[in-house]
Amino acid sequence: MKVHEYQARALLAEAGVPVPKSRVVGTVDEAAAAYKDIGGKAVVKAQVFAGGRGKAGFVKLCDNADQIRDAARFMLTNRMVSPQTGAQGIAVKKLLIAAAVDIDSEYYAAVVMDRGKRCPVVMVSREGGVEIEVVAKERPDAIVKKWLHPHLGLIDFQLSQLVTALGFTDKAQVAAASKIIRGLVKVFYDFDCSLTEINPLVRTKSGEVLAIDAKMNFDDNAVFRHKRLQEMFDPSEENPMELRAKQHDLSYIALDGNIGCLVNGAGLAMATMDLIKLHGGEPANFLDVGGSVTAEGAVEAFRIILSDTKVKGVLVNIFGGIAKCDLIAEALIAAAKEIGFKVPVVVRLEGTNVERARELLEAAKIPQLLPAEDLTDAAKKVCKQVASRE
Ligand code: GDP
Ligand code: MN
Repeated sequence: MKVHEYQARALLAEAGVPVPKSRVVGTVDEAAAAYKDIGGKAVVKAQVFAGGRGKAGFVKLCDNADQIRDAARFMLTNRMVSPQTGAQGIAVKKLLIAAAVDIDSEYYAAVVMDRGKRCPVVMVSREGGVEIEVVAKERPDAIVKKWLHPHLGLIDFQLSQLVTALGFTDKAQVAAASKIIRGLVKVFYDFDCSLTEINPLVRTKSGEVLAIDAKMNFDDNAVFRHKRLQEMFDPSEENPMELRAKQHDLSYIALDGNIGCLVNGAGLAMATMDLIKLHGGEPANFLDVGGSVTAEGAVEAFRIILSDTKVKGVLVNIFGGIAKCDLIAEALIAAAKEIGFKVPVVVRLEGTNVERARELLEAAKIPQLLPAEDLTDAAKKVCKQVASRE
């Protein structure tokens, strides 16, 4: 799970990290009203789950109310396109109006889970503000890392090494940087984060050290124990289909092609997509119904796949282990009756109760339904069907 910058700033502030005064707004008028409270130099920032806002023109420094209005209007009426959004970009619904600072230097500070070492790692760099991936690739020495003991967390000598690595010597700045790194680690532990990041952390021309951007990712499997995070969850930023699938314990992944895949199990999904590609097709999505799918869940799975307008054909590939083939066949028939298949649906079923499933499908006489002999046959058939409809 992700949260917006304004929410991440709130969590950081509560953990003692200094952040400039700010307000979140949804309209141009609200932006102007928020600016009245802030005054002076302010920055308008799009609140979206994607980085690279600065370069995309969705972080704008303003000196007066008119500039605030122009920036807000621009951001709320244009889609933001950055390397992280894909070419279609994303709509901006909320803006942060924050007091701007005069930057002297930009730094980077983050805590992430190091899967290789199986513990959190704090990373800091004097080269903040820019894309950290680029720094990591071109000048890895510019990033200093300290690995944290899962239970002890950040130890004082590690903190002092990190602050020294950032180059702070002034007493007040050392204290501020220490407080910020402590706060960052605290949030990481307190909220089961997989990432907490401040980029940039800045020293202002007047010598203050503070965070002017914040990003956080949380472990989905731990969200249940954080009421605070559940309240922050913003469904409007999620893919609606993925959300709908999640509500039925299905996992749906949207892709770019035109063949819908209904499978059980992530491994089978990968194999199915490989075969589709091998035979010249491109998957539009895959929906994994899992092992313990119910009849109702399976029908919902078809509704979701078929509501994707990109889908020009569907491949159903079920290996009936715990999931029973006859249950899937019944769901297929129910879905055909309810929605009506407008595209060919190639079906490959194997495993538990497959004979009964085949009988059911045959008796149902659904014209768009094409049975397949095996997986290769299924992939070839669906690719051929889709190609002939292009
Ligand atoms: P991101 O591009 O999505 O990571 O958005 P950031 O919040 O990191 O902003 C991008 C860049 O805008 C920063 O690296 C700064 O250079 C600049 N910026 C953001 N806020 C301020 C500010 O208050 N004052 C100044 N001078 N620059 C800012
Ligand atoms: Mn940033």
